[in-house]
Amino acid sequence: MGTPVGDLLDALAPVGRDSGTGGYRRFAWTGADAELGEWFAGECAARGLDVVGDRAGNLWAWWGDPDSAPGLVLGSHLDSVPDGGAYDGPLGVVSAIAALDLLREKGFAPRRPLGVAVFRDEEGARFGVACAGSRLLTGTLAAGTALGLRDADGVTMGEAMRSSGHDPGLVGRDEEALRRVGTYLELHVEQGRGLADLGAAVGVGSGIWPHGRWRLDLRGRADHAGTTRLSDRDDPMLVLAEAIQVARGAAAAHGALATIGKVRVLPGAVNAIPSSVTAWLDARGAEPGAVRAVVAAVSGAAGCAAVEESWTPPVAFDADLAARLAGVVGPGGPAPVLATGAGHDAGVLAAAGVPAGMLFVRNPTGVSHSPAEHAEPADCEAGAVALARAVEELA
Ligand SMILES: [Zn+2]
Repeated sequence: MGTPVGDLLDALAPVGRDSGTGGYRRFAWTGADAELGEWFAGECAARGLDVVGDRAGNLWAWWGDPDSAPGLVLGSHLDSVPDGGAYDGPLGVVSAIAALDLLREKGFAPRRPLGVAVFRDEEGARFGVACAGSRLLTGTLAAGTALGLRDADGVTMGEAMRSSGHDPGLVGRDEEALRRVGTYLELHVEQGRGLADLGAAVGVGSGIWPHGRWRLDLRGRADHAGTTRLSDRDDPMLVLAEAIQVARGAAAAHGALATIGKVRVLPGAVNAIPSSVTAWLDARGAEPGAVRAVVAAVSGAAGCAAVEESWTPPVAFDADLAARLAGVVGPGGPAPVLATGAGHDAGVLAAAGVPAGMLFVRNPTGVSHSPAEHAEPADCEAGAVALARAVEELA
C-alpha cells in the first residue's frame, strides 16, 4: 500500500506555518527551509538513501549510483510564497517518496539511477527571483547577480546562504549535478481548474506559457490631500488606476492574463497626494505576442515604458516524453495533456536542454498561492500511483 501521501504531508504541516492566516512562510535559506531539508534527509535516510547538496544548495537523493548512467529524477520544491498553501511544491516531493515506496514494495528494480530532488528557492519569495536554485544549477542565473540580491531586511542571498551553512563561493553552474539528470519529472498540484473541468485526477504537462514581470514608474507631485484643489493635482495614482483597467481589458482581448498585485506608494500617507507610485505587472499568455501586446497597452495607458524585470520564453516539454506519460499514467485510458501559466523548475531544466515533463494533480477549486489551496487525498494518492507508473515506464 506504500506510504500515504497525506501522512507525509501531515509531517510537514507545522513547518513555517503562520498561526494567524494558516498559510505558509517557507522562504529560502531560513530556519523553516532548513527544517524542511532536514525532514527530507530523514525520510531519505529511513529508506537507505543519502542526500547530497549541489553547488546551488538543491538537494538530491539517489537510488543507485548516479554516476553509472544518466538518471531519472523526480522532484519539486519545499519553499512557499508568503501565505502559500500546503501543496504547491511539497506535493511533488512527498509523491516522489511515496512512489519510491510503492515501487520497492512491488520489487521494482530501476534499470537506471533514480533520484529525488528538492529545488531550493523556487518561489523567489525572499530575493525576488523565481526558480533561483534551478537557474543557478543550469547557469541561467549568474552567481554574482544572485548572491547580491537582497531580501526585505537588506540581507543578501550570499549572506543568507552562509548563515545557513552553505558556502556561497560554491555557487555556479554545476556540471556534475546536471550530468546526472537524464530526465526530470515534476509532479505538481494544478494551479487552475483544467483537470477539475475535465473530471480527471491526473494530467500531463505540455508546456509553460511565456511570462514576465514589468515595473511601472509613475511620477507625480506630493501635496496636501485637504487643501489642494482637484484641478491643481498631479496624482500618479489616477494614472495607475487607468493602467490597471487597461491591463484587464487588454488581457481579455488577447486571451492572456495580467495582474498588478504589488504597488509601492510614496510618501504613503493617507492625507498626502502621492509623489510617485511604482507598480509591478505580471503578464502571461499562450503566445509571446499576446503578452507583448498587453504590456504595450499598459505602457500606453501609464504614459511610460514598462521596465522589463524578467522574461521567460515559452517552454515546450519533451513531446515524446509527454505522449509516453499520457499513455501510462492515466488509470483508465490516456491522461489529459495541458499547458500551464505557472513557472516551474521543470521549465528551467527543459530550457537548458534536459528532457523534462510534469504531472498535475487535480485542484478542485483551482486556488493556489493561498492557504485555501487544496487537493483531495484520493487525488494525491492517484498522483503517487501515476508517478510510480511513470518510473516503471522510464526507468
Ligand atoms: Zn510550485
